[in-house]
Amino acid sequence: MRLPIPNLNSNTGPLVDGYGRIHNNLRVSVTDRCNLRCTYCMPEEVVFRDRSELLSFEEITHFVRVAAPLGIDKVRLTGGEPLMRRDLAKLVVMLKEIPGIRDIGVTTNGILLADQAQALHDAGLERLNVSLDTLDPGRFRELTRRDGLDKVLAGLAEAKRVGFEPIKINAVSIRGVTERDAVPLAGFARENNYEMRFIEYMPIGADSWERDKVFFAHEILALLEEEFGPISPAPDYDPRSPAMDFVYADGGGRFGLIASISRPFCRSCNRIRLTADGKLRHCLFALDEVDVKPLLRDGHDDIALAASIRANVASKWEGHEINTSRFVKPERTMHAIGG
Ligand code: SAM
Ligand code: SF4
Repeated sequence: MRLPIPNLNSNTGPLVDGYGRIHNNLRVSVTDRCNLRCTYCMPEEVVFRDRSELLSFEEITHFVRVAAPLGIDKVRLTGGEPLMRRDLAKLVVMLKEIPGIRDIGVTTNGILLADQAQALHDAGLERLNVSLDTLDPGRFRELTRRDGLDKVLAGLAEAKRVGFEPIKINAVSIRGVTERDAVPLAGFARENNYEMRFIEYMPIGADSWERDKVFFAHEILALLEEEFGPISPAPDYDPRSPAMDFVYADGGGRFGLIASISRPFCRSCNRIRLTADGKLRHCLFALDEVDVKPLLRDGHDDIALAASIRANVASKWEGHEINTSRFVKPERTMHAIGG
């Protein structure tokens, strides 16, 4: 059953910011909890939010029903670890019923994926990204402060078996780590028909970040070219997309490089974010956020909610300024925002 579009008193039309960027892409964090403790993302010890503070599936769905007439048509569920939120597949079903939502994705660490891949696929989930930085069990333990590589690999295999296509593997690109892991990961992706994506390490975790700790996209490209031969930009490469997509000349598939630091894509950013506790953020690195939970929890003022989303987008800054001395790291670390 399709639910009616909310009456927004003509407050429809695209979400445009002061730099002319149109926003159609929403990231929703469904939990701040995680079953790993990746060093680049979160501290070892964390006090998680009480479950009562998190938006319910009904509240998330309500938010998206108000955002859709404003032009939001892509939603990605993330966290923390989204598969730790019970019955995530139910949320996928609820979101798919919203008129205008044409694409739903999940980003997961894969630990619980073997058990949930079938349900998520049956729910109609379109896009699946699995995060995996290394195929070496020791380095997996060092980076995530937990064991579980075998579970992630089983999750990837099951996701393929149930029919997800493509499956993207995200690896954070860190100097001192990724030099060793890029080629094995890319080889694994080529063999199994996964799409590898390397994301430059960003200053959004609890650890101390320095630019020197980023293993840059062009360095990965050189490593992969040396190992697998000529590489060229993918013919359907969209320059507006954060990922620079490439193909191997030998037919070994495609991969992406997300050069958040060396080639920021802020100029074409089309994303907004909703945290698990109901805060709206116009940028991963935003220092201000808007609490929309009261508008979702204490009565449904859809017109005020739409106005709040529009105002948040309108106030969006030009870019993250990581490469300048003006950069200020947000208080929330990645796991509590939603990557
Ligand atoms: N737990 C899920 C996972 O790991 O896929 C979803 C949440 S996680 C915050 C989303 C993505 O953010 C992951 O691909 C993760 O590797 C990435 N990420 C986390 N911290 C990062 C950092 N400091 N720099 C770049 N990417 C980061
Ligand atoms: Fe958890 Fe994902 Fe952050 Fe790793 S990157 S600690 S899996 S939220």
